[in-house]
Amino acid sequence: MKRISVLGSTGSIGTQTLDVARIHNDIQVVALAVYKSIHLLETQTREFMPRLVCVYDREAAADFRVRVRDLPVTVVSGMEGLLACALCEEADMVVSAVVGMIGIRPVIEAICAGKDIAFANKETLVTAGHLIMPLVKKHKVKFLPVDSEHSAIFQSLSGGGEPEKLILTASGGPFRGKKQSELDGVSVEDALRHPNWSMGKKITIDSATMVNKGLEVMEASWLFGMEADKIEVVIHPQSIIHSAVEYTDGAVIAQLGVPDMKLPIQYALFYPKRRAMSGKRLSLTELGSLTFERPDLCELPGLSLAYESIRAGGSMPVVYNAANEYAVEEFLNGKIRFTEITKRIADAMQAHRVIREPSLSEILETEALVREYLAGKKTSSN
Ligand code: MG
Repeated sequence: MKRISVLGSTGSIGTQTLDVARIHNDIQVVALAVYKSIHLLETQTREFMPRLVCVYDREAAADFRVRVRDLPVTVVSGMEGLLACALCEEADMVVSAVVGMIGIRPVIEAICAGKDIAFANKETLVTAGHLIMPLVKKHKVKFLPVDSEHSAIFQSLSGGGEPEKLILTASGGPFRGKKQSELDGVSVEDALRHPNWSMGKKITIDSATMVNKGLEVMEASWLFGMEADKIEVVIHPQSIIHSAVEYTDGAVIAQLGVPDMKLPIQYALFYPKRRAMSGKRLSLTELGSLTFERPDLCELPGLSLAYESIRAGGSMPVVYNAANEYAVEEFLNGKIRFTEITKRIADAMQAHRVIREPSLSEILETEALVREYLAGKKTSSN
């Protein structure tokens, strides 16, 4: 029996994790955490009967307590509630599927408590990878990627041998091939229309700006101990090759499949075993052809700024990520134009003075300063 705590259970990865849990009777859900989607959470709680549930938003938590007062469940809230779910004693594994840097503390504490992690919260690794990866080693926990590209690389690495390069594929999102000058007037609806994957809003906008791929380069670099200049981003509009590894003998091993997040989720939950899964199968003959393009960095500021932040190092990826999180919220709320998202990132990066090896409190402080700076309250993020 594998007992899991799911942080972010009403999001795209969270709901699909529960879809996987529903199929396998040797997975028990012992804790759930959400931001404030209590309607869906109630359905999940009644189905999976976890012992502990966190509703981050305190008002929504109070509402939720009333809704489930007939159930033997403890309802907690706020950051201490989220940490309680990460540390839930019965859990062997924590599925980290929250969106954004809010996942840093729960992941760190879960690792220190010896929990295995199924990891779907790239912002956390991008901003605190230098703190997290040594803890993974020290506490000898499994840290398994759920992101489709990283799961593909992880699966492709199982053949042994020395990897020379990682090939990270990108669909290119809804605006593939478009110039920045053509994107000024795009609406939130346009940006949310991803051609291949159905995901949450934040990551879908990140895919449209290519910031998602920038974050994934950093995520891959931490996960697989590979320098960023040995991670090649390739535009592959069909999203069939989920990523690949090139070995020192020139062999390239890739993982292919129809785009379905349930596969990487299930792979992480049962690793090192591979379980059967029903669903649509890949037909190469039906596809006929797969195509690849080199990304044009001049027209993809979301990606070029990521490389810039990697080169600057230290706290700069924190700024890249925090500015993006803030700017995406602004875009979704109709406050800024689409092309301003990456301009806000560039602006915040320019204003920042790098801190080498930032501590957890320096990371969180940098995030707060970036938000303040972008909100116009301050003239510099450091
Ligand atoms: Mg991905």
